Amino acid sequence: TTVRVVVVGSVNLDQVIEVAALPRPGETVTGGPVLRLGGGKGANQAVAAARLGGAVALIGAVGSDADSAALRAELAGEGVDVGRLAEVPGPPGHAVVLVDAGAENCIVVSPGANAAVGEAEVAAAREVLGAAAVVLAQLEVPMAAVLAAARSAGGTFVLNPAPVPVSVPGGAGGLPGELWGLVDVLVPNRTELEGLSPLDGSVGSVDEPVGPVNGLPTPELRRVAWQALALPCPRVVVTLGAEGVLVRDGSFVELVPAPKVAAVDTTGAGDTFCGALAVALAEGEPLAGAARFAVRAAALSVTRTGARTAMPTRAALGSAAPGGSGGLA
Ligand code: ATP
Repeated sequence: TTVRVVVVGSVNLDQVIEVAALPRPGETVTGGPVLRLGGGKGANQAVAAARLGGAVALIGAVGSDADSAALRAELAGEGVDVGRLAEVPGPPGHAVVLVDAGAENCIVVSPGANAAVGEAEVAAAREVLGAAAVVLAQLEVPMAAVLAAARSAGGTFVLNPAPVPVSVPGGAGGLPGELWGLVDVLVPNRTELEGLSPLDGSVGSVDEPVGPVNGLPTPELRRVAWQALALPCPRVVVTLGAEGVLVRDGSFVELVPAPKVAAVDTTGAGDTFCGALAVALAEGEPLAGAARFAVRAAALSVTRTGARTAMPTRAALGSAAPGGSGGLA
């Protein structure tokens, strides 16, 4: 296939333990069995894109142990090209996740091999980055690697700014100034948008549906729109959970509502969304159409438990073309 999505990001081993109640500081609680699952935003978004038919390569790093070999093999089994996934001494990234009876969680991420992804690992993949239709990155690998990937991206560079960094000197809203200039499409959730937007939302008339926010039904959505419009990046897709997404394309904003589904587990919805958006953009879909496709994929993912297990295939979406209206549309 000619479609090329290159994901630059993290690979983690998630260790999930269910507990009746999350422990307080100093407390010891007994939990259920340890579930060991492949995770990491980079790996998850790569799997989401591959399931939806993208030809996907993952740039990043795993460790040198047996867990790392298993993570690599699982990704390869999903059809993700792991030929440029570096191996560094030590463990892979880990996320230790405690989940209570009410689905509230506490997560500790130990970056492991992800911390070793730098300019050298990205430089080794320069050719595939230059040829890719879409390069998709998150912020679970060092900023130097993300910047190098953005510089090498030949096609559309999509950034999911998660986790959102604290403010950097000389940067606007927590991202280095140079990165703002290289991002073609930014995909924050609401919290990440709050962390990145120079506007606190009190600027712009949220009470009046005027100008670009005309047509948005609530003050809250108009506030999100004004914040997105204030970012130094003309194309922004803000994910809004069950509400869908808000698309900013230049001075134009549009709400793409999510279909109403029986949500069972929203874990990984954001990763499914980003992977799907990348596939549709790589197929030449305009931003709003790509967002519609990704909204359908993400809605399907929340109707099943787990992150990767819930990611839909192209067949499950029920349409061949991103703009098609099969499945949940
Ligand atoms: P997570 O961290 O849980 O993966 P996130 O905060 O990154 O999520 P969300 O905005 O919660 O991202 O979800 C991403 C997208 O998934 C939403 O924009 C929407 O399209 C879809 N989605 C999430 N929850 C629902 C839901 N209950 N019903 C339909 N679609 C949903």
